Amino acid sequence: MLIQQQPLTDFVSKLFQASGATEVIADEVAAHLVLANLKGHDSHGVGMIPSYVYNIAQKLLDPTTTGEVIVDKGAVILYDAKTGFGQVAGRLAMDLAIGRARSTGVVCLGVRNAHHLGRIGTYGEHAAAAGLGSTSFVNVVGHEPQVSPFGGRDRRMTTNPFCATLPRRDAPPVVLDMATSAIALGKVRVAHKKGEPVPDGVLVDHEGRPTNNASVMYEEPFGALGPFGGHKGYGLAVMCELLGGGLAGHWTAQPKHPRSSQIINNMLSFVFDPDLFGGGEQFDDEMTAMIDYLHSTTPAVGTDKVRIPGEPERESEQARRDNGIPIDSNSWQGIVTSAYKVGLTASDIPS
Ligand code: NAD
Repeated sequence: MLIQQQPLTDFVSKLFQASGATEVIADEVAAHLVLANLKGHDSHGVGMIPSYVYNIAQKLLDPTTTGEVIVDKGAVILYDAKTGFGQVAGRLAMDLAIGRARSTGVVCLGVRNAHHLGRIGTYGEHAAAAGLGSTSFVNVVGHEPQVSPFGGRDRRMTTNPFCATLPRRDAPPVVLDMATSAIALGKVRVAHKKGEPVPDGVLVDHEGRPTNNASVMYEEPFGALGPFGGHKGYGLAVMCELLGGGLAGHWTAQPKHPRSSQIINNMLSFVFDPDLFGGGEQFDDEMTAMIDYLHSTTPAVGTDKVRIPGEPERESEQARRDNGIPIDSNSWQGIVTSAYKVGLTASDIPS
């Protein structure tokens, strides 16, 4: 189906309010998820609703809390989301870092125990809207690992996203926002639900043989998702695990920690003010010149043009705001079932 952003957001907010969230929290989570769909990342959009609703029922996601600051020492802030919605805690924590960076120039922000932060680029874009740069290292725990280390076939980590964002004065920010797995797990889930193959080089089956069959991630005997970019992508995933999980969260994917259906993100972010590097205007001019240089590259065969990180998402957002958000029927069915579970009725569900 194709659905417009506003009726979808209203419906999702109502669904989370019926699940126990306040209107303010539900509105923010709904807006975050729908923005992920608009950006083209259906893996981190409203398709997450069934797992959120399940985790609320299992008391693995507290829909009422917004978390609290547990360390506040100058340029270091640590925020405990207390297993509340990551979308709210992550934004609140980033607000604190943005405010603090005005005086300290740079902030090292930890966020721990967040129930799924969603699309990590959201927080970097939030910093960029305030004129600040950011980098974020994130791990994902609370459930069985899904990603194999480089050279291995057993699952040891999850999709550990990395994000770096830079503000620009008269142009949208540069936004690199990516899973460190070969593709985001949510994209494997979407392929599984649609019954479609995943690209080559992404999955191995339980015997370590390459496969395009997404079901190896959901049906026994389980296979594994590989890291992106061979040993280098794996190395970045390890740093996300150790900085986001180890330092900020005290919770890595090692087996001593609990594993259920929970989705916990721990994040370590550096937020900085580019104006303090001897002239924000020169930096902005230099970025613009370099980006123009990249854009002027002759496209390779089969490519329409060269883009910089963040542009594909903006193109998707424009198209989906104009034409509506496509949702596959399996995902929609899962969302509707969740809506009925929390007490909504047919009249609440947009068609
Ligand atoms: P992706 O592979 O679609 O894109 C990764 C990055 O590459 C983006 O910054 C994008 O702008 C850039 N890009 C894509 N095509 C490009 C092109 N042709 N030219 C230049 N740049 C290009 O993203 P992904 O790895 O599938 O991640 C999807 C989302 O999943 C992200 O928002 C991420 O934060 C999220 N995620 C979240 C979690 C979590 O636990 N919360 C875990 C993993 C991923």
